[in-house]
Amino acid sequence: MKALACQACASTVFFDNLYCGACGSALGFMPTAAAMLAAQADAPSAWAALGPGVQACANRHGACGCNWLLDDAHPSGLCRSCRLNGTIPDLSDSRNGAAWLCFEQAKRRLLYGLSRFHWLPEPKRDPTDALGLRFDLIAQLPGAPPVVTGHAGGVVTLNLIETDDVQRESSRVEFGEAMRTVLGHLRHETAHYLHQRWIAPDPDRLARWRGLFGDESADYTAALARHHGEGPPADWAQRHISAYASAHPHEDWAETCAHALMIDDALETAGAWGLRLHGPAADAHAQGEVPEPAAVRAMLVEQWLPVAQFLNAMNRSLGLRDGYPFLMPDPVLDKLAGAFGLLLGLAAPRDQAPDPAPIGGPA
Ligand SMILES: [Zn+2]
Ligand SMILES: [Zn+2]
Ligand SMILES: [Zn+2]
Repeated sequence: MKALACQACASTVFFDNLYCGACGSALGFMPTAAAMLAAQADAPSAWAALGPGVQACANRHGACGCNWLLDDAHPSGLCRSCRLNGTIPDLSDSRNGAAWLCFEQAKRRLLYGLSRFHWLPEPKRDPTDALGLRFDLIAQLPGAPPVVTGHAGGVVTLNLIETDDVQRESSRVEFGEAMRTVLGHLRHETAHYLHQRWIAPDPDRLARWRGLFGDESADYTAALARHHGEGPPADWAQRHISAYASAHPHEDWAETCAHALMIDDALETAGAWGLRLHGPAADAHAQGEVPEPAAVRAMLVEQWLPVAQFLNAMNRSLGLRDGYPFLMPDPVLDKLAGAFGLLLGLAAPRDQAPDPAPIGGPA
């Protein structure tokens, strides 16, 4: 994440801030410009004074506290993030407001990260629309069918319980995971969507993908059943970023892609805050260029690993678990570099996209 400052007083502000803590200005993030704007008052006229058609998201004063702006006069009055919502929880239950806030903050960060790859998803228009994306945040109700966090046909579902810190950490320990976050879930499930939307329909991309992750036509249901029944292979850490990634090529991609998005965000944050890095300041996002895998690999080794080591050292000073509890053997580095390359090559206007794959796929 880039460093953000209040336009009015230059104080450091954060991505989710609705107001400047120093001068009180109303803050709004304009996703199309990746910029934080400041208004003299939190009122429609004050936002409109910032530019043609600028308005605050209709959810700004709702439970999800959305601080994004829109400049396209969309009739919904919702920003590009909130437009992607399908199901949100019942807000008459006061506990659900905090869950929705947690979910939306993670989703906005996910979208910011995708925008670095020149990609802002369009909302799914209807159930048959294979191009668009939708997010459902669903609470498990007694007697109702199980709510499964996953992706299917351009719909990302998150079980609302994942926004509960106690429950999520309990699941992380139970499943022996190094990391389990709401943002990580959204990155993982969106990676499945990216495969369905951008990779599977394009023979060249699919060939590169299979070269990295394997044959995705392997029986998915049987693979997941085997993973959950027998556990991962003993040497999974030599070849995969997580144990779950060893379950099936689709999960290897989703875990690796989510990890690449995480590193991309974290590296931008480190650079923006002036964290001194050992490696060359290569810009993986140089306009119009998809870097060679070797260059991305060098970025991971020379720029990311020193930051990750610093993060772990700092966390140990604070008495916390390692912030980056992962290993990167060569096969994992190669896959991460390949995932970066695929992500950097994805940007294409909706109308020029290849024909989408049929609805359905892995979760
Ligand atoms: Zn300020
Ligand atoms: Zn919004
Ligand atoms: Zn998955």
